[in-house]
Amino acid sequence: MSKRIGWDEYFMRIAFQVAGRSTCSRKRVGAVIVRDRNILSTGYNGSISGMPHCDEAGHMMENGHCVATIHAEANAIIQAAKNGVMIAGASIYTTASPCWNCYKLIVNSGMKRIFFGEFYRDERIFEVSQKLGIELIDLSSCHDFEEVDPCARER
Ligand SMILES: [Zn+2]
Ligand SMILES: [Zn+2]
Repeated sequence: MSKRIGWDEYFMRIAFQVAGRSTCSRKRVGAVIVRDRNILSTGYNGSISGMPHCDEAGHMMENGHCVATIHAEANAIIQAAKNGVMIAGASIYTTASPCWNCYKLIVNSGMKRIFFGEFYRDERIFEVSQKLGIELIDLSSCHDFEEVDPCARER
């Protein structure tokens, strides 16, 4: 039997599972919003509802980035809003550290902790988080979150 996993690993692994639903092959990202160890909302990056997926219709490139999708963190916040779920004071687990736009949404939604599975792109989030008292927690070195059983192979 493998050992029981901790809460951070539990939620981050779920975020990686959520990322599997992403519809843009350029980068598949998943996010899970949590408060008091309860999942409030999830999101992955995908096209506007009703529009074709990148994986089918191709990407919408702008300055080297695909702009067709709504990002995972934004979709998790949208899902909470659609369902009337209060996320102020919650934490977000995201497989990749938030881009600048998602970061701004996360902060203004009142979330206080951001866990990320890998560093993505924007360094500004570190400095601003320090100013605002937002916790940014890098879990990239802790675990291989995509591995179902951490004891199943040598590391
Ligand atoms: Zn795309
Ligand atoms: Zn983003």
